[in-house]
Parts: sequence; structure tokens; C-alpha cells
Amino acid sequence: MNLPPDGKSRDQVNAELDDALTKDADWMGGRIWSLVYYAGDDVAAVLRDAYSKAIFTNGLGPDAFKSLKKFESEVVAMTASLLGEPEAIGNMTSGGTESILMAVKTARDRAREEKGISEPEMVLPVSAHPAFDKSAQYLGVKAIHAPLGDDLRVDVSAMQEAITPNTVLMVGSAPNFPFGTIDPIPEIAAAASERDIPCHVDACVGGFLLPFWERLGHEVRPWDFRVPGVSSISADCHKYGYAARGASTIMYRDPAYRRYQFFAVTDWPGGLYGSPTMTGSRPGGAIAAAWACMNYLGEAGYLRLAEKIVGATKGLQDGIRATPGLKILGEPDVSLFAVGSDEFDIYVLSEALGARGWFPDRQQLPPSLHFMVTPAHAAIVDEFLTTLREAVADVREKGGKSTGAGVYGSVVGMSDRGMVRNVIMDFIDGLTREREEAK
Ligand SMILES: *Cc1c(COP(=O)(O)O)cnc(C)c1O
Repeated sequence: MNLPPDGKSRDQVNAELDDALTKDADWMGGRIWSLVYYAGDDVAAVLRDAYSKAIFTNGLGPDAFKSLKKFESEVVAMTASLLGEPEAIGNMTSGGTESILMAVKTARDRAREEKGISEPEMVLPVSAHPAFDKSAQYLGVKAIHAPLGDDLRVDVSAMQEAITPNTVLMVGSAPNFPFGTIDPIPEIAAAASERDIPCHVDACVGGFLLPFWERLGHEVRPWDFRVPGVSSISADCHKYGYAARGASTIMYRDPAYRRYQFFAVTDWPGGLYGSPTMTGSRPGGAIAAAWACMNYLGEAGYLRLAEKIVGATKGLQDGIRATPGLKILGEPDVSLFAVGSDEFDIYVLSEALGARGWFPDRQQLPPSLHFMVTPAHAAIVDEFLTTLREAVADVREKGGKSTGAGVYGSVVGMSDRGMVRNVIMDFIDGLTREREEAK
């Protein structure tokens, strides 16, 4: 494919954009249960305004763009207060994965500098986000996974047994993505700080929701900087912070830690070059939109949205528990949860739901369907439950085995992990080729 020789008109370009975008999943209608956290048309308008006003700014140059310096430092300061330590410091990043990469790099470099550890390891729950494994691969840190207990929270004694003189970081999630359970953070943090090991809490998904859940009077297991020994927290503005994609935070209790995150080179002909996070040029639109969103919503706005989510989550969970053949795994702490069945192949239910236009994600180990509830789902609770009951009745009557589709589908039944990995690599390869062929 070549560039169009004369360029297309703005109308033509817009028409092609609209045509492509209308083929996407119906995220605004709550038909998917991950990826998009839609807070309503008013918030969307605020995000669009802020993103487009700041579209040409670049976070690489805080001196040229004093606006972004202000926006970022205010987002970080407001986040610090939400996380229970107003004095905490940090940075904005492009997303949860980058925040986690930064936490792992910081811990690795601190251990190398202060303890002479050259073969770093980290101990984390099997339910921790794959971004930690990605960080481990990228940064040369060995990841040691601890199993979960029956309550789907990490087994802290298994974590303790996995600690060695090379351990540079211990991790807990608040909550983890697959089951929505918060790990026993006080126990993990205590085990870590006893040995002068940093403890990172991954609150990418929970960081902007749990504080409001608690303010609404619900009991929330301790997870934030109020827990002694918690040294860093990742919290995504672009999840329950409702910001535009490309905005997260990585926060540290102790300013001395964050120095290990920074990168600087002094002998480049282009001049002195310093950068706090992974990215070089940083999209100012995402930073400005996160700032605008937090200021527009304020405490009251986040509380109102959290209340909506509490109601929708309860409605969905009650309805699912009352549906014969279905069960919710563990006792999820907030608005993410997994649904399984002892009676039928849950992936067959996923296909039956897909045929009716609903797309919860498929999980493995154990097989389950995944739900992440947002304000967009508040409007569809009854409609979804009606469809779910129909689909379940259908599956119970007809039974059947899943034909398997998508990555998870192909993974099911394969016991050789190397082979599974190749299937996923082939899958990504296929997607890439498909994208190329589509051009
Ligand atoms: C989403 C998520 C991440 C990763 O965030 P990205 O923004 O997708 O990179 C990490 N941890 C948890 C618990 C998450 O839910």
C-alpha cells in the first residue's frame, strides 16, 4: 500500500474513519466487559475538549510546556491523597504496563545499587497482571509466582518461602484482574519490609475505585499507603479514573526510591537528556485529559459513579447467583469477577452469549467468564440477566463442548505450555498479517 497520491478530502477521511469505527464492539452499550471504562457523555465531552486543546503538546519538554508540568504534578498530587499518603511522589505514564515496568526497574536498580544484587528476583501472585512477567522478561528479573489460597487471594506463606537473598520486590494486587480479589496486602508488606524488600501494590484497576467504595461506607480490605511497608502503587487514570487512554500513575512513598526510576545521559551530542519514564515524547493530550477529568468529576463525581457501579455489580452478581448452574468464583472485593460452572462447559455459554451479542472475556485456570462492571453497565443489568438466563437454559438443555475460538479457546486442552506460547505467538503473527493484508 502506498500513500494516496493526492491525499483524500477531510470529509472522505472522516467517512472512512466512521465506517471503520462503527465495526468495533458496542462498548458504549455495555456489550463488552473489559477495555473501555465509559463514564457518560458529559465526561466524554470534557475529555475531548482537553485532549484536543493539548493535542500538540509534548511531555518530553516540561520547560516548553509548563501546562503539562502543572497538569502532571496536580494529577500526581491528587492521586497521592487518594492513595492514603498525600506526601507520596510519582509520575504519570502511558498506562498500567508502563507504571509496572517502572516499579520493577526501580526495585531492580535499588537492589543493585544498595545491596549489590546482580541476579534479581521478584515474588508475585499467579493472579498478578502479565505486565509483571513482561517487565521480568524486558528487565532481566526472575519472576517467582506464588499460588492462591482457596479464597483466590495469594498464599502469603508460599510467597515468604519463595524469598531468597536475591529478592528485590514483592507484589500484591488490589484487586487482581481475573477474580477481583484483593491480596492480603498487610501480610505481604510486613514480610517484605522485615527484609528491607520493597512491596508494590498493583492498583491499576482499583486505585481510582477503592477509595470511593470505602467512602460510600463499604468495608475495603487494607491495600494503600496507609498499610506500613507498601512502598509503591500503580493506579490507572484511564481505568476507573475515566480518563482518555494513555494515562496512569506510578507512586512512591519514599522519594529516594524514585531516583532509581529516572534515566539520564550526559554525553549525547544532542545535549543532556533526562527522562523519568519509559517513553521519550509523551502525548500531552492524555495528560491534560486526565487532569481535566479529575477536576470535572471531583469527589462528588467519582462517588456518584462508584455508587452506580456498586448497584450494577450487586444486581449482576445477585442475578448470576440465582441462575442455576452458575457460580461466582471466590468473594470478589469490587466490580470485577469471574463466573464458572460445575455443571456445563462455561465456554459453551460464552458462545451462546456471543451469538446473542454479549461478550464477556474468557479466562482459564480455571475456565470462567470475566466481568468488569462500569457505569455503562448500569443501564443493561436487567437486559443482560434476561439474556443470560435464556442462554444458560439453552446450554443446560443442549450441552455440548466448546469449539474454542480466539486465544483462550485454542489454549484450552493443551498441556504443553511451550506449545501454548507458540499458539499465542502464531495468533499475534496472524493478526499482524491480517492487518497488513487489510491495507
Ligand atoms: C489493566 C491492568 C494492568 C495493566 O494496565 P494497562 O493500562 O492495560 O497497561 C495492570 N494490572 C491490573 C490489575 C490491571 O487491571
